[in-house]
Amino acid sequence: MDTQVREPEGQTFVEAALKLGGKSEEEARTTGSVDRADDQVDALFAARYQTPHSPVHRVVWEREAPVDLFLPQPPVASPDCERTMQRSLEAARRHRSQGTMFGPDGKVSDAVLKDLGAAGYWGLLIGPEYGGVGGSFAAFARFLTKMATIEPNLAGLASVHGCIGAVDPLRNFGNSEQKERHLPRLASGERLSAFALTEPCAGSDLTALKTRAELDGDDYVVNGEKLFITNAVPGRTIGLVCLIDKRPAVLIVDLPDQEDEHFQLVSYGLLALRHLHNHGLRFRDFRVPRENLLEPARGDGLTIAYHGLNLGRVSLCATAAGAMRVMLANMLPWAQFRRTYGAAIVTRELVQRRIARMAALIVGCDALVDWCSWLLDQGFRGELECIVAKIFGSEAQKEAAVELFMKTHGGRAFLRGHVFGENIHEYLAPCIYEGEGEMLGMAFFKSLIKEHGKQFFEPVGRAMQASGIKKPNPLNPAHAWALRSAVWPYLKWRIGQMLLFTRQVHLDGLSIPPALAAHAAFAAEALERGRLEISDTMFKHQLRLADRQCRMAELSQRLQDSVVILAASLWASRQSSEVVQAAADILCQDLTRRITGQRPSDAYFRAATKLGETVASGGFEAIAGIEAGEILMPYKP
Ligand SMILES: Cc1cc2nc3c(=O)[nH]c(=O)nc-3n(C[C@H](O)[C@H](O)[C@H](O)COP(=O)(O)OP(=O)(O)OC[C@H]3O[C@@H](n4cnc5c(N)ncnc54)[C@H](O)[C@@H]3O)c2cc1C
Repeated sequence: MDTQVREPEGQTFVEAALKLGGKSEEEARTTGSVDRADDQVDALFAARYQTPHSPVHRVVWEREAPVDLFLPQPPVASPDCERTMQRSLEAARRHRSQGTMFGPDGKVSDAVLKDLGAAGYWGLLIGPEYGGVGGSFAAFARFLTKMATIEPNLAGLASVHGCIGAVDPLRNFGNSEQKERHLPRLASGERLSAFALTEPCAGSDLTALKTRAELDGDDYVVNGEKLFITNAVPGRTIGLVCLIDKRPAVLIVDLPDQEDEHFQLVSYGLLALRHLHNHGLRFRDFRVPRENLLEPARGDGLTIAYHGLNLGRVSLCATAAGAMRVMLANMLPWAQFRRTYGAAIVTRELVQRRIARMAALIVGCDALVDWCSWLLDQGFRGELECIVAKIFGSEAQKEAAVELFMKTHGGRAFLRGHVFGENIHEYLAPCIYEGEGEMLGMAFFKSLIKEHGKQFFEPVGRAMQASGIKKPNPLNPAHAWALRSAVWPYLKWRIGQMLLFTRQVHLDGLSIPPALAAHAAFAAEALERGRLEISDTMFKHQLRLADRQCRMAELSQRLQDSVVILAASLWASRQSSEVVQAAADILCQDLTRRITGQRPSDAYFRAATKLGETVASGGFEAIAGIEAGEILMPYKP
């Protein structure tokens, strides 16, 4: 029985209040289908791993902060997996030093792809029964950071192949015949993979998908166009999201080795990911065997897409952690070389603070990668947590590139051959792909408030509809009477919240350095306060909340910042390096100020510049062994 109230426009209260768009009936209808896909993804997981039981949801809505869920175990890789990773890193280093990373077309060369295949790189996330090594996701994610310090594009390719490409959909939603047919070729690298979701008219708005497939005999016949598909060239095996009987579905598609009248590439000049292939794909009466349709037990094509995107978002953060290491490793020799007004700029506070901030951002990414990947390995859906990692990682990389790396290098940053100048689009694009950050921030907020809305606000909406009340007025006795039983549980909850003492975070026995413990306690309290703020915001805006995007985005960002403080402080408390702990402290102080609006103290500046000095003098293990490029346009002082 459908127990959800139908508003006059045909949407449920929760759908209406939570839609990302707002305003039109069309949006309400289409975003309702996205919400249902989201519910279906949740239903794939055991109840204790679904979003309402996730660490972020619990730390906001429950009385006790689930501290243990913010303390990941270090990842363990099997010997086979470890060997595969080492071989892959060696292959990448070899090509880097021989200058053979990219072919004449500027793309990652076929020789690199082949050598990585021989090393077992493409099978890292595929089980041994299908020819892979079946490593944990946590080990894979950490490894991606290392790979990104050699070549971020290779880390990106591993993520496209193993997370968002055909590998994850097949592993999790393929039947045994499909796995046996496709996974061995994907593990060996005989076929590499891509994921085709975006269309010219459908990026942020996935409900606007138009590519469709119709069953004709033993084949689906595909018509439509995809856009911006990374690693899409003839001969790849892609996960293609298309509409079948008007519902999103995923077909595993072996692209032909040549373009023909049924399949063509669309080319354009894309500045980001310029060392990888990225094309549009045009299908005209393109036939795909019907047995290539993935049929999840629950849900549809968007269910499948969301699953892989979670892994992809953590991988993106891991790659950012590697790319920022490279930036920092390149910043230091230059800052030591460049002298102005009689001293090297590395001795100046402004530069030291930038160095410290870069270390802090790296540590933040490392913490989120370890935490999220551990949660995914535990079996959590991890949607809220992976969104935090994606937004933090992409924004950190953008800030690191523009505010820290570029500024410190001055005019030389724009020279051909400079790491910044050559890669600026690479540094910015992650803010857009795998979900633009602000849109994801709203999705984060929406997922966080869903249960609360269902529990307390939906009954009110139902009662309003039953009694024909459009705008409730608590001072109107008729309204108060009609809504009393629906509103009472909410009032009880709200009064109970006001009577609660401030949350105590139990960190006893965890031996956490005092500064980090203070950050963890601050974040846990901020998230508890956030609970009331969220609820009051829902109460205030009711059905129009979906149109209050600026409020949602602002609140979402503060909640995310608090989550990062909690995850980073607790993660750092488990690290033996004092420099890493100091960097986490700086990050937490920066985020705290963003939440409270306070100005930095002198003590903060002292701590930041001291950290910068320590990192500059070789004290930051995270960048050990990363080779810096040569200093461009050196001069005799
Ligand atoms: C380098 C690169 C690689 C990519 N690789 C892949 C790939 O391999 N596979 C794939 O499928 N896709 C890929 N993409 C596509 C990418 O995922 C999309 O670009 C992204 O999801 C954003 O979609 P869009 O470009 O259509 O932006 P749009 O949907 O046009 O959005 C533009 C902006 O409009 C605003 N906006 C949109 N809707 C709303 C709303 N309702 N409310 C408020 N603001 C709104 C947001 O700020 C948004 O960022 C790639 C993109 C790039 C740049």
